[in-house]
This record gives sequence, structure tokens and C-alpha cells, in this order.
Amino acid sequence: MNIHEYQAKAILKQYGVSVPEGYLVEAVNQLETQARKIQTDVAVVKAQIHAGGRGKAGGVKVVDSLNACMAVGTEMLGKQLVTHQTGLKGQKIRKIYIEEGCEIKSEFYMSMVLDRATSQVMIIASKEGGMDIEKVAMQSPNSILKISVDPLIGIREFHVRVLAESFGLSTELMPNLDKIIKGIYACFVEKDLNLVEINPFVLTKENVLIALDAKMNFDDNALFRHPEIELLRDFNEEDRKEIEASSVGLSYVALDGEIGCLVNGAGLAMATMDAIHYAGGTPANFLDVGGSASAEMVHKALDIILSDDHVKGVFINIFGGIMHCNTIAKGIIQATQAMPRSVPIVVRLEGTNVEEGKRLLDHSGLDIISADTMDEGAEKMVALIKHKEAIA
Ligand code: ADP
Ligand code: MG
Repeated sequence: MNIHEYQAKAILKQYGVSVPEGYLVEAVNQLETQARKIQTDVAVVKAQIHAGGRGKAGGVKVVDSLNACMAVGTEMLGKQLVTHQTGLKGQKIRKIYIEEGCEIKSEFYMSMVLDRATSQVMIIASKEGGMDIEKVAMQSPNSILKISVDPLIGIREFHVRVLAESFGLSTELMPNLDKIIKGIYACFVEKDLNLVEINPFVLTKENVLIALDAKMNFDDNALFRHPEIELLRDFNEEDRKEIEASSVGLSYVALDGEIGCLVNGAGLAMATMDAIHYAGGTPANFLDVGGSASAEMVHKALDIILSDDHVKGVFINIFGGIMHCNTIAKGIIQATQAMPRSVPIVVRLEGTNVEEGKRLLDHSGLDIISADTMDEGAEKMVALIKHKEAIA
């Protein structure tokens, strides 16, 4: 689960990490009251959406008067912001954060992520802050420092010293950095984070270190331990289909392609997406109905897939292990009969009672094309869509 910058900063503040003072605005009529609270000559108006790259896209604006702040805030609220992370449609700005401006001496990059290879929290840092870390990683990988933190010993002075050195900070800033790193690490562990990213992490003209931006991602599987974090979820920032899917226990991730995939098991779902790509198509989603896919789940999943207008065909690839193929076939037939709109369906079934399952599909009188292997299914699906386009 992701949260907004203003929420992440409020959490960091609880852990003793310095952040600029800021005020949230959710409607134009709150603008003036909030803007008047700013104590600095310069303020920064920041669009609150779950995507980065706002600065370059006009979602972060520096203003030097109350009037300018009001004008920028009014313009931003309700606007659609397109950044390199939002996709072409962009994301609607429903909230803005007005923050005290600070004079920046240097901008750094710092993040902590859970490194699955070492099962440790990894600190990633770079002197090149404020820009795309992905670009820095490609162009000058040696400028990125990675430090693994042993969970049994936590953050120690030597970690902080290595970081200070890589940022080029003088020794008198060590206590300041120490407090921040320990605060962020404590937050990471206690709140069950997957990621916290501070870009930029800055040194101000007054020689203090502050987090000027903050991104946090929480481990969904641990959310039950943090009801206070669950409250921060902003459904407006999530795909409607993904919300619906998670509410019935389906793992669904929306993608940009045109072939809907209905699969059981995450590994099989990944392999199916590969097979579609290999056959020259593009998957519209990742969808795992779970190992014990029931007829109802298949039905619900098909509805969610078809609510995406880009979907031109559905490839159902199911391995009947716990659930037998004949039961799944019945689910597919029911779901196909009730389909909100008609698109070609290709089914590949394998596993227990596969013959009976296939027989049911073949005799259903429905336009369901069966395939014996995954590759064959993907090829048939792609060919069907191309054929439909050619005759249209
Ligand atoms: P994004 O990463 O989405 O572009 P940031 O919060 O990182 O958004 O802001 C972009 C840039 O705007 C920062 O790199 C920094 O230079 C500047 N900036 C952001 N907040 C402030 C602030 N409070 N005071 C001064 N400059 C800021
Ligand atoms: Mg940033």
C-alpha cells in the first residue's frame, strides 16, 4: 500500500526526522487559511498524488506571496497531472500540500528497501539527489552506495559514517544524520515498510538535514498489525478494478495490453503473460484467482477483466489441482453465459478430470476455443484478435 507525501512526512516526524512544516488543502475554500500559516518568505505548493516526477510535470511550484500561492493552489486542485509515473491518463489532483520553502545547499538521494536476496534492510544512497535515481543507476552505477543492515545489530555509527562520507558531509553533521537514519530505520521496521524513499534528502543553507520529499510503501501482508496505517489508504489513487478484486480475494494488477488473462497461481500467471508476449500479444492484466479457484471466483474474475474496455479477448489458463477441471469448466460456462460483452475466449485446462472439463466446454454450445498447451492458447488468442481487427 502506498500513501501520500504529506502522510509519510507526518510519520517520519514522529520518528524524529526533520521535515518542512506543511498544511494540507482539500478544497479551494481552505486555501487561504492554510496558506496564511506559512512562516517563510517562499512556500512550495505540492500536488498530492501517488506518483513521483511531479516537479518536472508542474506538480511542485515555488511561490513567493500569498496571492501567488492562492493562484497556483486554485489552478492545481482538480487538475489532471501527467508525470512519467502516472501513465498518459494522469492522475487527478484532489489534495495539495503547502509547505514552507527551504534554501537548498545540496540535494541527496536516500532510501531503504527490503532486500529479499539478503533478507535485510538495504540503505541506498547517492550524492546525486533530486533526480531520477533510475537514470543515475544506469549512467553512473558506482555513485550509488548500498549498505545492508544486519537486523540483529541495527544501525550503528559506522553505517552513519559511511553515509556521511558518501554525501560529503562534515563531521559536525554526524549527530544530525545519525538521528535521521536511526529514525527512518526504526520507522521502517516498526511500520513494516517495503520501501521508504527520500528524494531529495537535503542539506539546507542553515546546515540542517531535512527530508524534502517522502515516499512510503507498506507490506500489505502486515497491514493487519497497523490499523492506523490502513486508515491512510486513499482509494482515489488506486485502480477501481484492483480494489474490487482485492475485496474478493483475487490478485489483480491492471496492465496496458488487450488480452485479459484469467489464471490460477502466480507462477502460472507470469508464464501466461510471457506466452502472450511471445505470441505477439500484450496482456491487459495479471490475475491470479488462487490455487482453489472456485466457479464463483472465475465468474467474478471474468467480470473484472471485462470491465476494462481495452480487453479484446480473454485467455483462461487453469491448472485443476485442488479444484477439478470439470468444476472449473462449469464456472467458465456460467461466467461466459453471463458475460457483459462478447469477446473471444480461449481456454486451456490441464489437471484432474481434464477430459470431462473439456467435454463440458465443447458441448456448451458457447463460442469457447480450447487449446491443449499454453503456447497454443496464446497463439490462438493473438490470432483471433488480429483476425477480428482485419475484418472490422
Ligand atoms: P517529485 O519527486 O514528485 O518531483 P519533490 O517533492 O521531490 O517531488 O519536489 C521536486 C523538487 O522541488 C525537489 O527536488 C526540490 O528541489 C524542490 N522542493 C520540493 N519541496 C521543497 C521545499 N519545501 N522547499 C524548497 N524546495 C522544494
Ligand atoms: Mg522527489
